[in-house]
Amino acid sequence: MGDLRRVLVGVLIVSLLAVSPASGIEPTSVAVSAETYLAMYDEATLRGVEQPQAEVYDLFIDITGNEELDLRIREIAEFRGYIRQPLAAAELVPVDGRLLQPPAAEAWEALQANARADGVALRMTSAFRDLRDQQILFRGRLGGRTSDAAIFATLRFSAPPGYSKHHGGYAVDIGQTGVERGGFINTRAYAWLAADDFARPKAHGFVPSYPEGGDFMGPDPEPWELVWIGTGRIACGLGASFPSGFCDVGPGPRAADIGWLVDRGLTVGCAPGRFCPDDPITRGEAASMFWRLHEAPTPTGEAPFADVYATDHFATAVDWLWSEGLTEGTSSTTFSPDVFLTPGDSFAFVVRLGAADLPPPIGMAGPIPEFATEVVALGDIGSQLSRAEFASILRAAAVR
Ligand SMILES: [Zn+2]
Repeated sequence: MGDLRRVLVGVLIVSLLAVSPASGIEPTSVAVSAETYLAMYDEATLRGVEQPQAEVYDLFIDITGNEELDLRIREIAEFRGYIRQPLAAAELVPVDGRLLQPPAAEAWEALQANARADGVALRMTSAFRDLRDQQILFRGRLGGRTSDAAIFATLRFSAPPGYSKHHGGYAVDIGQTGVERGGFINTRAYAWLAADDFARPKAHGFVPSYPEGGDFMGPDPEPWELVWIGTGRIACGLGASFPSGFCDVGPGPRAADIGWLVDRGLTVGCAPGRFCPDDPITRGEAASMFWRLHEAPTPTGEAPFADVYATDHFATAVDWLWSEGLTEGTSSTTFSPDVFLTPGDSFAFVVRLGAADLPPPIGMAGPIPEFATEVVALGDIGSQLSRAEFASILRAAAVR
């Protein structure tokens, strides 16, 4: 195994395993409104999910099997503020006998350990649920009734399939043995979680899913449900400010990689004052960073991709990658710039950059050494790369 490959694999594994709370944001007791918590989740671009496509969902899964009744249920649900939720599209990991997205699973275990150290037991009672699980659950609660009143009452506590935050693999329900869900608010576990306006869950990237005081959010408040959005998004939502210049990059291991990326002018972040470390990185953004890493050379040709426009900020970068033979696109006429980069894509780019006869990347003594061709087989390591992970990979490839 070549040295660079070893470094890259190491970096990738470390970065995939250590997603949160690596940003190092301290537990904070800043109190915010229910609306703020709801907006933090609604505005988060979470990785490893597919955005909802109502028509497709409804083809695959009905609610009760009666088309007219299903339509009415959806109408009343949306009247209550339920919205379609994304579905998990990445490989989930088992934790406490259930499934969660990797960063949520890691954060959950850390939160649980934190509770245990304080003598509090946090028991997970539900995590990822697919459309079918939710269909069974909803049908069970509706119990064959068809009146608007019965539908309304059921929707106070249960989402119809397609509308549950559990579909994405980031939400967890917490219970206590012998306590009904509604009684959770009176438990020691809830008091521990809710102290200082959920400072402990927030320090691990979790916010209340359906907070007390929340209105028009679908169900009644659910004190037992938390949803992971990452510490960076929470920090920005709370108005944090850090030496990095980004509200979502606190002191911590990944701050150095992100700082390196910014110092070399490879990116200015995802929006003013934000880096969006936990967001997936798109192929267009990655193309732009690879091009800048090589000091933004003038392309010798024009790429034949119909989905890259001259006005796109990555257009010149794509022309350069294409004319150097570093990308073939996703087809002969498409580059798919808005599609999220996979770890496999990233390795393939780095491999080709190393193999091509190019001037060395900024900060590197020589060209990236060519290494084993089977590296491309690593494409199935994970599904999407976060912006922070991409920063670590680029830095590892460039600074050695
Ligand atoms: Zn729940």
